[in-house]
Amino acid sequence: MADETSRFEDGDAFRRAVLLALLIFTACFGAIFAVLNYYHGNYMAMAGEIAMGLFALVLVPVIRRTRHLIRWSFVYLVLFDTTMMMILTTPQSSPSVFAWVLMIPILSHMLLGRALGGGVTLVFLLTALLIYFTRFSQSAVLGNPRALLDVAGVALCIFGFSFVYETSRSRGEKALKRQALTDPLTGLGNRAHLDLRFREEKARWERHGTAFALLLLDIDFFKKINDSHGHETGDNALKAMSAWLTDNVRGTDHVFRYGGEEFCLLLSHAAPHAARQAAEHLRRVVETSSFEEAGETLSFTTSIGVASFPEDGADLQALLGAADKRLYAAKLGGRNRVVWE
Ligand code: GH3
Ligand code: MG
Ligand code: MG
Repeated sequence: MADETSRFEDGDAFRRAVLLALLIFTACFGAIFAVLNYYHGNYMAMAGEIAMGLFALVLVPVIRRTRHLIRWSFVYLVLFDTTMMMILTTPQSSPSVFAWVLMIPILSHMLLGRALGGGVTLVFLLTALLIYFTRFSQSAVLGNPRALLDVAGVALCIFGFSFVYETSRSRGEKALKRQALTDPLTGLGNRAHLDLRFREEKARWERHGTAFALLLLDIDFFKKINDSHGHETGDNALKAMSAWLTDNVRGTDHVFRYGGEEFCLLLSHAAPHAARQAAEHLRRVVETSSFEEAGETLSFTTSIGVASFPEDGADLQALLGAADKRLYAAKLGGRNRVVWE
């Protein structure tokens, strides 16, 4: 499960909200500063602010929908920072305009994450520092090293805090996503995870025509284990079952806990006959395996319903329905068996 969640774009909703807020701020502040700069005769800054403000407004509907959030964030942030650097170089801008540089570490980390955000921060902070020294090398501003030290210190602290904040936010979000997709007793994927994997398999089938299959397994007479050995032993039986299944499928197959003592498998690249063979193999594995509980050796059997995509159903519900019907037939047929038609 460790890298499972990396498939989902980390911090998507959070980043979209931050970028949208930045676009609105850019448009508002761009308009205010453009007017101010017009009166100060700083036409280059004015042009940059109007261009960025308009671009920000045009981007709002795009950002609401885009699936390439990081790419857009990167493009926008680089343009935003470059415009800021250009304004810093204009002789009419005052030394206090450099205060805006402090936005760079926060925005970069929030929008681009640690690695890319850290890189963008470094490039633009150093550029700002260079502009500062070039512009004020002859001026009294540099004669006051305390002031420069204050600004540089604040910039470094914001850089550090943004980095730590983004690291823990990203870790927390990954952990939550993992939890949301995992069954806590067995550590297997849950139904939500099955749903995601099914969509991936279906997409692969649409692109490459690779067949896949779904198995639904239900432990036979599980209630008896609970009744005669206690609920805790029942739980251990479920853990044993999940280990047997996981150890006996290919690395590309996926095992899920579907419900109480029901398990579901998605078999990648499996034509109907291969799925049948795999199901029969797993039935045998369960039948011949056992686990130790308080000095006693316990075992059980399982019934399995097999459904193949797309023959038995074009969506997950249909496929599960077909497998469930066959599982029921396996139970009626005497249990400890596989039914595929
Ligand atoms: P069958 O062969 O028809 O499937 O018989 P069964 O006894 O396995 O079937 P049934 O569905 O009636 O019983 C399932 C039992 O599984 C009932 C429930 O108490 C138990 N169960 C469900 N979830 C858990 C769990 O997390 N831990 C334990 N120990 N028992 C559970
Ligand atoms: Mg059941
Ligand atoms: Mg059962």
